[in-house]
Amino acid sequence: MRINLFLLLGFYLLLQNNGFAQSATKTNTRQSVIYRCLPCGLECDNKDYLKPGQCASCGMELVNKASIRFGSISPAAICQYIQTHPSVVLIDVRTKEEFEGRADPDFDGLANSINIPIQELEKRIPALSALKEKDIIVFCSHSHRSPRAAYLLGKNGFRKVKNMSGGMSMMRDNTCKK
Ligand SMILES: [Zn+2]
Repeated sequence: MRINLFLLLGFYLLLQNNGFAQSATKTNTRQSVIYRCLPCGLECDNKDYLKPGQCASCGMELVNKASIRFGSISPAAICQYIQTHPSVVLIDVRTKEEFEGRADPDFDGLANSINIPIQELEKRIPALSALKEKDIIVFCSHSHRSPRAAYLLGKNGFRKVKNMSGGMSMMRDNTCKK
């Protein structure tokens, strides 16, 4: 009889522990996974979602907020930043035509930038691995394409990526343009 009681007590404790572990895991998951719209430069980029799916505003896929790892820099601050960080890598993610100033309208570009159109970025990432620790700024015309590029780079281990908010169309400072 005494042994049976011990067994029952042991079983009871085991169940209790299990319950504890499970509720701890649940709480943890609920707290840590927040989803956001795949960055597209619109207001909805800042809206938190609690479940995966699509952004209600722009229809983009929702991604884990923790996978969004990039900073931003304003068009007003960029020329000074380039001056004080001469090794910064400037990536223009627009089309070749836009990069070369053959598009209409022509928003110009940043001097010494390289062109990697957003459509090609994902497949070119392996060839860019030497830039993983470099300071990188990505830009486009209106900052609708470049946030996605910054997201892709950040997700692939590029640690120092900034997106230029607003894009070239918002840039008034000509001193670091082409
Ligand atoms: Zn959205």
